[in-house]
Amino acid sequence: MLSYQHIYHAGNLADVQKHALLAWVLAYLTKKDKPLTYVETHAGRGLYDLGSFEALKTGEAAAGIAVAEERGWFAPDHPFAKVLKGVRDEHGRDAYPGSPLVAAGVLRAMDNLQLAELHPKEFAALDELMAGRAVRVKRDGVEYAKSILPPEPRRGVLLVDPPYEIKDDYKTMADLLVQVHKKWNVGVLMLWYPILKDGPHKPMLRTLEQAIPDGIRHEVKFPPARDGHRMIGSGMFVVNAPFGFTEESARLSKLFGTLA
Ligand code: SAM
Repeated sequence: MLSYQHIYHAGNLADVQKHALLAWVLAYLTKKDKPLTYVETHAGRGLYDLGSFEALKTGEAAAGIAVAEERGWFAPDHPFAKVLKGVRDEHGRDAYPGSPLVAAGVLRAMDNLQLAELHPKEFAALDELMAGRAVRVKRDGVEYAKSILPPEPRRGVLLVDPPYEIKDDYKTMADLLVQVHKKWNVGVLMLWYPILKDGPHKPMLRTLEQAIPDGIRHEVKFPPARDGHRMIGSGMFVVNAPFGFTEESARLSKLFGTLA
């Protein structure tokens, strides 16, 4: 199907939660002088223009990253703030990093990035952007992750961030996490999911919490982007969360709690 285009949603409140936690986790792991592997199943194009017609049309970034920054959610030394600054310095004031650039902005030359994206146009943009920095593959991200994990080096992070356009995605992603965790028990696994009014993510979480009881669930609620919009929040299920993750996610919860 592949009709989802992240440019309409880049920099929204769900991205703020996901990218802030991702940057924080990677920054924590890079404190140790040992190489890491970063794998992403649904990478997107990596860089978004918040001044584009699509981004302005939905206004999601204006209600997302713009509000977070206006309210000072991220101090200048927060890993997410540092990435935002670096990306704007390089690509202009309206530039917003997708997760591959968030990762590349935090990780070091010794770390290994492996990114899957299936949409031909998104992949072409990602391929050009990340050339020389990451392995890029145009294939199904779930199959790709299964084929390369556990990785070498073993320390590392898997980010799973599908569009959930297909109803089965909820089951597919739960199965992926459970399977990967069995093969790669030291890997930090991060699964993003939308919180929709009718709660289609709930069976997925039941499966995950039963199979991986020490996984951590972080959820934030926010006003829908438009009248009638189904998404009322976003969540991350994290396996092997680093020390301090609970405090950082609680800090974010408090900030999201201040939104009307
Ligand atoms: N992770 C990105 C970020 O935070 O910047 C956003 C990713 S967006 C939510 C989901 C992406 O998955 C879209 O770019 C879409 O084209 C891609 N996609 C959809 N089905 C896919 C599949 N089976 N394998 C890999 N990528 C897929």
